[in-house]
Amino acid sequence: MEYEIVIGLEVHAELATRTKMFCSCQVVDSTQAEPNTTVCPVCAGMPGVLPVVNRQAVEYAMRVGLALGCTINHTSLFDRKNYFYPDLPKGYQISQYEHPLASDGLLVVDTSQGEKTIRIRRAHLEEDTGKLTHVEAGSENYSLVDLNRCGVPLLEIVTEPDIRSVEEARAYATTLRGILRALGVNSGDMEKGVIRFEANVSVREAGTDVLNNRVEIKNLNSFRAMERGLTYEIDRQIKIMESGGTVAQETVGWDEANGVTYTQRSKEDAHDYRYFPEPDLPPLVVEPDWVHRVQSTLPELPRARAQRYQADFGLAAADARLLAADIAVAEYFENTLAAAKDVPGKTIAAWILGEVGAYLNRTGETMETLRIAPPVLADLLVRLTKGEVNAATAKVILATLLEKGGTAGEIIKAQGLQQTSDQDLIASLVARALQENPTELESYRSGKETLANWFFGQVMRMAGGKANPSVVREELARQLKKE
Ligand code: ADP
Ligand code: MG
Ligand code: ZN
Repeated sequence: MEYEIVIGLEVHAELATRTKMFCSCQVVDSTQAEPNTTVCPVCAGMPGVLPVVNRQAVEYAMRVGLALGCTINHTSLFDRKNYFYPDLPKGYQISQYEHPLASDGLLVVDTSQGEKTIRIRRAHLEEDTGKLTHVEAGSENYSLVDLNRCGVPLLEIVTEPDIRSVEEARAYATTLRGILRALGVNSGDMEKGVIRFEANVSVREAGTDVLNNRVEIKNLNSFRAMERGLTYEIDRQIKIMESGGTVAQETVGWDEANGVTYTQRSKEDAHDYRYFPEPDLPPLVVEPDWVHRVQSTLPELPRARAQRYQADFGLAAADARLLAADIAVAEYFENTLAAAKDVPGKTIAAWILGEVGAYLNRTGETMETLRIAPPVLADLLVRLTKGEVNAATAKVILATLLEKGGTAGEIIKAQGLQQTSDQDLIASLVARALQENPTELESYRSGKETLANWFFGQVMRMAGGKANPSVVREELARQLKKE
């Protein structure tokens, strides 16, 4: 039997506001701040306190909704989702349930099979929970509770079950991250847990459109975990189906260390949470004026940016997409372009995607930690374009800049890398090359013209790679012609 995979993703993205969703506590970096230092009676869930909606969080959520082509609903409602967990002091989470802020959007992603449109069901506002750290100290095992994250604004973005492969799931997740970063509403810093995934997956006979029982995988905190968790779960479900069994609807956790999923509970239903309208918050009303204002100030998004790069600089589609996918890379490209007079965009793109990209991949550094600022790269590429250094030397200089910083000028001076266009010097090198290789010269003159390139190589080698290639070619052509 042929199987088809059905996946729907729920993405939880923290919104990078200054203060929390319903109180004025600062939002802090949960990996840096001293635990339990930004907590007040509201986010700690003390009785008798009142929540107040953070306007900036609503605006950030609207940005995301609009970027995903959603309808921003004029009136949305906050509800209480009741459950107990030690990281949730209130005993309920304020969330939007039947009436979310945004609904019915779509996201177009690129995969190896081409473009794919994934429908967005809804994007709703809620609040984050605190953070538990489980400590194993010999015989004493305990958990620490940090409430700093309690009440941090969270946007949950839910797709329709339109995703058909692990690759599409990854493309969706990375594209969405790129949009959140471009919108300035989330740092995209996965290590800090500002984006988390839950993946719903089921398997069905290919060619049918039934929706079989799904399994919801929790604790997916990285793209890799999402891919591994999905792959594991799909395998497991196919095995069950092949042996004639039925997959049970359940919620599982992803165990990153052992690479397996484990049953957490049979799938809860909405009624298990006893949702009811949050009595302390009025309906959230968003007037059309506000929506228009947010719409009109949306920044350029990765897809449009990629199309612009293709049109303006003649880049290949794949290259344009790579440059535009992440705002930090795109800004790096544009800032280099602005500082590099007379250097074609295509050249700059090739160096950023080539040498700089390879360095980032190899070292795990990011644009934010890079030692070479756009004007420094621009300066190097201007020197290259002017013929002051050749491409091979420019690569050596760039490698040093990436490792140690500094400027191209300093490195050229320190290492004596200036390229020479000195006519007399080059003429004498060419003469020597012809003199030292009479056999090759003979064959060239009797018609083997490809040897011109061989001679070019000889001269460049004699010059230690520092001769201006176009001057060498001219001089070589001149001397080869002579009888
Ligand atoms: P809940 O809110 O209980 O988690 P939803 O019905 O809102 O449930 O669905 C959550 C996610 O699961 C959505 O992304 C949806 O597309 C996806 N989904 C629903 N049914 C299936 C299915 N049979 N197989 C895979 N994914 C599914
Ligand atoms: Mg869910
Ligand atoms: Zn607070």
